[in-house]
Amino acid sequence: MAHLRGLRPQDLRALWPDLPLDDRMARRIQARLIWRDADDLEGVPGLSRAAARELLRRGRTTRLAVVERQSSQVDPFVKYLFRAGDGQVFEAVRIPLERPRWSVCVSSQVGCALGCVFCETGRLGFTRNLQAWEMVEQVLTIRREGPERPVTGVVFQGQGEPLQNYDNVIRAAEVLRDPCGARVRGDRITISTAGVLPMIERYTDEGHPYRLILSLTSAIPEKRARLMPIGQAFAVPDLMDAMRRHAARHGGPVHVAWVLMAGVNTGPEEAHALARLLAGTAVRVSVIDVNDLTGRFRRASDEERGTFLSALAAEGLPFVRRYSGGPDIHAACGMLAARRA
Ligand code: SF4
Repeated sequence: MAHLRGLRPQDLRALWPDLPLDDRMARRIQARLIWRDADDLEGVPGLSRAAARELLRRGRTTRLAVVERQSSQVDPFVKYLFRAGDGQVFEAVRIPLERPRWSVCVSSQVGCALGCVFCETGRLGFTRNLQAWEMVEQVLTIRREGPERPVTGVVFQGQGEPLQNYDNVIRAAEVLRDPCGARVRGDRITISTAGVLPMIERYTDEGHPYRLILSLTSAIPEKRARLMPIGQAFAVPDLMDAMRRHAARHGGPVHVAWVLMAGVNTGPEEAHALARLLAGTAVRVSVIDVNDLTGRFRRASDEERGTFLSALAAEGLPFVRRYSGGPDIHAACGMLAARRA
């Protein structure tokens, strides 16, 4: 049975052409269920009681259960543990932005098949893809529970590889962006990928407005393949060509994320390899400290990190240091494991 919060207005009409739903009515219905976050269709102008009953009979409006909320003592991050109807659990993180606003880091899968060696989610293995409504609902729950700030950003960077759940992630992003949905601007929605090359190509061809960021983490192919096994399937230069093509079509620089690990990918040879790879390309490198619960990978010291950032600067590579918050509640990048504390 379709879940109504995983549908755009045009999906609603296409799904049930026998119901009296013109475009305006479909938009009113989705605005009631998603933007207004209601479970009923009371007061939707022009919708008969019989049609409202029939819609709610054919489609679901169930919610995710919030199993746990953990607030960081270090910063205003909150980690949510959700449980779906089939008992599967997954996490989302409420991220405070300046001004003040919320951004939500959303999970796209239960677990992940890609097995990046520094990532807690990767150690879980893959269980299943999340449906579009399960991603939308992560955002709606966090919005509902933090009404003092608007949700203005969404990043598909929680558990899972978004491009391995492509159709559902794109559908969720479209619902979140829709004026009847969560009204998050397309350029404030980010999809982060470990580098599923054919899906990057498809994403570019389809011309979506969302920002795409490649988690590169090493520009040296053999090392990257050891850290991120998907690197064995897709070569670094091919990935970079695909990201360049995406940036040319989408506009803006190539976005690259770099999970910084002490003694692993902080050397000048990495900065140099990255510069060679990106020669002549506008780029922005987001540097994020590793968060490895096992202790196998350690954060770089201030000095080691500073040396790497200086090497990036010397190579002419613009970078931004991303703060990955909530370390005390295991909410930081790479720490989402969907376990109760
Ligand atoms: S870093 Fe991302 S792609 Fe890699 S294992 Fe973790 S969740 Fe999966």
